[in-house]
Amino acid sequence: MIDHVDSKVWVFVEQRHGHVAEVGLELVGKALELAGLLEWKVAAVLVGHQLGEITERVLSYGVDEVLVADDPLLAEYCNEPYVKAIEGAVRLWQPEALLLGATAMGTDLAPRLAARLRTGLSAHCIDLKITPDGQLLSAVPGWGGSVLAQISCPRTKPQCATVMPGVFAMPEPGDNRGRVIPIEVHLQPEDVTYRVVEVKREEAPKSGLQTAEIVVAGGWGVGTKADWGLVEDLAAALNAAVGATRPPVDEGWAHEKQMIGQSGITVRPKLYIGVGISGHMHHLVGIKKPELMVAINSDPNAAIFDHCDIGIVGDLKEVVPGLTRAIREHSEAVSKKTER
Ligand SMILES: Cc1cc2nc3c(=O)[nH]c(=O)nc-3n(C[C@H](O)[C@H](O)[C@H](O)COP(=O)(O)OP(=O)(O)OC[C@H]3O[C@@H](n4cnc5c(N)ncnc54)[C@H](O)[C@@H]3O)c2cc1C
Repeated sequence: MIDHVDSKVWVFVEQRHGHVAEVGLELVGKALELAGLLEWKVAAVLVGHQLGEITERVLSYGVDEVLVADDPLLAEYCNEPYVKAIEGAVRLWQPEALLLGATAMGTDLAPRLAARLRTGLSAHCIDLKITPDGQLLSAVPGWGGSVLAQISCPRTKPQCATVMPGVFAMPEPGDNRGRVIPIEVHLQPEDVTYRVVEVKREEAPKSGLQTAEIVVAGGWGVGTKADWGLVEDLAAALNAAVGATRPPVDEGWAHEKQMIGQSGITVRPKLYIGVGISGHMHHLVGIKKPELMVAINSDPNAAIFDHCDIGIVGDLKEVVPGLTRAIREHSEAVSKKTER
């Protein structure tokens, strides 16, 4: 293997069967921004088999280097050989920082890598910064979501972080200017500690949450599966996507893909309406700069009222049907007017 690479910030760009997880590219965009402040270079790390097309695609996002571990034994994801490939490259080329998406694969790989490399890991970050002396600062909601901790790991390298999908904007592709560097892997079949026998894909509901202009989100205060219909009716009246906090997902009222927040998805709507949601940081960090934020809660002291533009104090079982009715009547009146 060559003995030197230029890049100090590495991004693991996850792919499965040729499909690149967007979070990897979002992190490339952020890494280029952070590294640019220190005139550092950025590498994407690709692991898998037959990665030619993906390598070209990743290069088009402006990285300086793509480090590629390509081997038939890496064709299906398995943590042991993946860790072995990345760990070997890190030990040899010693980056300052290593970023991964907080996906199923990223959250499986990152702690194993950090433990093997005896370095720290900030998990499920919702923001990243870099100091002039190269310290990576990771923002992580902590203590039940009531505080936003800023974590750094200055003494050991690489500084590792996993970041939630959707936290950073997707960059635009531009010119290929980087070079491709192979990572030599010396894998034996026994390195693959488990074999993928079959892949069953679960069809997630197409909620369109991440791109929705209006989001109506429901929380634990909704109370029952039957009353979850109130949230869905309001969303339907507004042509909005339905989101949720964690409790409705745990209860089975909403799908896990509808969970907004630190462990869920990030939304960027123009209008967000939170129904029966208390306002834990774990949820709020998943709502990026709405133009208008409305909260409906029976507790006048609910924390969400400190974050919203319009707060409605009341029982959601009365407020929400009334609001839905008023919106429907207004929409009907508007469409009658335009028909005339
Ligand atoms: C590591 C970690 C990660 C997490 N990640 C996430 C995440 O990504 N997303 C997420 O959402 N949570 C996440 N959580 C959970 C999070 O901390 C909160 O527990 C959760 O967001 C609370 O949801 P809630 O506001 O719906 O429920 P609650 O906090 O129980 O609030 C319910 C609200 O409903 C109001 N209410 C009750 N009845 C009515 C009524 N009839 N009318 C009007 N209002 C009513 C109450 O006043 C209350 O304010 C995470 C937790 C941990 C530890």
